[in-house]
Amino acid sequence: MLDLRPNCELCDRDLAPDATSARICSYECTYCAPCADAVLENVCPTCGGGLTPRPIRPRQAYRHPDISLGLGFHPASATRKHSRWSREDIAAMTARLKNVAPEDR
Ligand SMILES: [Zn+2]
Ligand SMILES: [Zn+2]
Repeated sequence: MLDLRPNCELCDRDLAPDATSARICSYECTYCAPCADAVLENVCPTCGGGLTPRPIRPRQAYRHPDISLGLGFHPASATRKHSRWSREDIAAMTARLKNVAPEDR
């Protein structure tokens, strides 16, 4: 299940589960849109993959009781994550991959 992380791993701004500005890579590394666009340039500094808008988990359990889904049953994570990479390292990774389409990385 997708880990709905509570913050941008780069600038630490809050990203609520319904934030339309949240971006993720395939490993769920999570960033805000400004960092994803202006700093990372669509390159996850950890895995090198592209970043896409994070899906928004619905608040309501529309299929309950057949299936128990939605934020009430699967709440967002409260564990804040922080990128382990230095700004210099991130800049190098971005420069290396930003001109390669994610499907070609
Ligand atoms: Zn950010
Ligand atoms: Zn990643």
